[in-house]
Amino acid sequence: MRNEWRCIGCGVKLQTERPDKIGYTPKSSIGKELVLCKRCFRLKHYNEVQDVQLTDDDFLKILHRVGESDGLVVKIVDIFDFNGSWLPGIHRWVRGDVLLLGNKMDLLPKSVNENKLIQWMRSEAKELGLKPVDVALVSAGKGYNIQKVIHLIEQYRNGRDVYVIGATNVGKSTFINRIIKEVSGEKQIITTSHFPGTTLDMIEIPLDDGKAIYDTPGIINHHQMAHFVSKADLKIITPKKEIKPKVFQLNERQTLFFGGLARFDYIKGGRHSFVCYLSNALPIHRTKLEKGDELYETHKGELLAPPSKEEIGNFPPFDRHEFTIDEGKTDIVFSGLGWITVPEGGVTVAVYVPKGVRTFIRKSLI
Ligand code: GDP
Repeated sequence: MRNEWRCIGCGVKLQTERPDKIGYTPKSSIGKELVLCKRCFRLKHYNEVQDVQLTDDDFLKILHRVGESDGLVVKIVDIFDFNGSWLPGIHRWVRGDVLLLGNKMDLLPKSVNENKLIQWMRSEAKELGLKPVDVALVSAGKGYNIQKVIHLIEQYRNGRDVYVIGATNVGKSTFINRIIKEVSGEKQIITTSHFPGTTLDMIEIPLDDGKAIYDTPGIINHHQMAHFVSKADLKIITPKKEIKPKVFQLNERQTLFFGGLARFDYIKGGRHSFVCYLSNALPIHRTKLEKGDELYETHKGELLAPPSKEEIGNFPPFDRHEFTIDEGKTDIVFSGLGWITVPEGGVTVAVYVPKGVRTFIRKSLI
């Protein structure tokens, strides 16, 4: 890969003929030292993102290239959206070792026990078919644990190339930027944004021994909440700092609305506490279960927002899922939005998420 023909923002191959296609840059900018494609230029200067134009097939082709090599694969997940940002099936075609990193550690309450969380990630990974060589927590944004992770990469790559993979929005570009900054002192080489799918082709970051770190494009997980909301709303639902858990003492037949994006009905189990781990900016509205339907119909897009009134027309209808939790501390997960922790079993709840978004229960993460 020759850098001079690639966008320094996203790594895509540059072209000067088709303004509407990937990698366009005006002829006049070719030859300059640092060239951005039109897409990255707009993102950088106007904070505006153009639609992702790579298909799932393109992503697969790129990932196959990773699979054929025997390098170290650094797989990044968003610890706030662990299952939503998990790339299924990776273990089936990756030949090399996989180092699993849980990013955005800074979002979890400081009281979280790191070792316990790592254990939790190991056992989830195992259930999902992956046996990583190691698991670590990191905050690419805040720089937490970065040195430790750099050492782990050095240790496990054993003189081989490194491929960084992850679903869109896990913070992969931020991670790579952070590594470059730590290693070389350079700032902001790769485009990062609030928006999924910013990195469009593999970017090669040369290492001293002739090997390289490759940043692959973010793979779209279609059931991520991020794909159902506008860019403005994505900013609201994506937590930016430590989540302040909100505790609700609920009686049976009470309902919580998370903006107008999801709904939680407490059906049966006596008075119980429920701990909500969501973006601090997302308003929670409590009501009686009997009033839930009507409240939603009359107030969605207003009292119950986001999504806003303009966007509610395009928002998928809710699907209802009922769960009975028999025992133990359990999380009810709203993929991409967060989760509710139920301290004990013996409860029945119903969860409403937009059609296409996943919801499920898991052993409590915290
Ligand atoms: P990519 O699509 O995986 O390349 O993700 P980006 O690097 O563009 O990051 C996606 C979003 O997550 C951006 O809003 C970042 O600011 C944010 N982000 C990345 N790393 C962290 C982190 O360690 N902590 C927090 N709180 N946010 C992060």
